[in-house]
Amino acid sequence: MNDASRFDSVDSKEAIEKTSVSRASKNSHEETYSADEKKLISLLSIRPYIISDAKGEASEIADRILANKQEFLKDLNAVLLNDTEDLFVKADKNTHLSKDFIPKDLVSLHTDKNYDIYRNDLSLRIPVEIALNKMATAAAIEGIRLVASSTYRSYDYQITVYNRNVAEMGKEAADRVSAQPGTSQHQLGTVVDFGSITDDYANTKAGQWLAKNAATYGWSLSFPKGYEDVTGYQWECWHYRYLGVPAVKFQQKWFKNIQQYMIEFIYGWKNAKS
Ligand SMILES: [Zn+2]
Repeated sequence: MNDASRFDSVDSKEAIEKTSVSRASKNSHEETYSADEKKLISLLSIRPYIISDAKGEASEIADRILANKQEFLKDLNAVLLNDTEDLFVKADKNTHLSKDFIPKDLVSLHTDKNYDIYRNDLSLRIPVEIALNKMATAAAIEGIRLVASSTYRSYDYQITVYNRNVAEMGKEAADRVSAQPGTSQHQLGTVVDFGSITDDYANTKAGQWLAKNAATYGWSLSFPKGYEDVTGYQWECWHYRYLGVPAVKFQQKWFKNIQQYMIEFIYGWKNAKS
């Protein structure tokens, strides 16, 4: 509820007087806000924006949040409370993971599940593997087999992948499609590359099923079409990150369904003083 609607809901004369007295007795309008509301206002008022403005969408997102502070904070706090598995770690071109960042709960993927595996040395964090199997089970009911092709990648393995790409296509081109060590979401152990790992995957039954249904199971496409300036990477129709169902709904509701915006906001929120 914003300020205007709060006044609308006050119906007795006495209440209106009380409100104006309490407002008048305080020096600034600001003092009627909660600590979280104040934090939100200050975070969204600083420039450059707390989220990328490379597509000119930051002000629209910030304005909508500021116009609905209480509703947004209720959603945000529910999402953060639900995140018992620490799924919102920021790993991108601006925020690097250390060489020592190795998830403690990695589990190997096996062939006895409802998804297929492209190779035998794949692993994911335990809650993410469970979520993958749940999604794959739903796909299997519709006759679709999901294939996990690339999953957790260690810092050292990412060095190999990145160097191979640089050797093949040159640094500039490699940086658009391949992460430098420490900047890959794959190091989080919460990401799956599905199928062929090519644009053609978008036209396959599995690719189309994921585009339509992944969000229902808490998975989010990390690098959507047309957002290279924001995410740092070209469209990758095969690369999905598990964030949990509440976070994906939150991303859809407040951040134009762009994972990068939500992760940047949460990172800023967690690192800001209250
Ligand atoms: Zn990937």
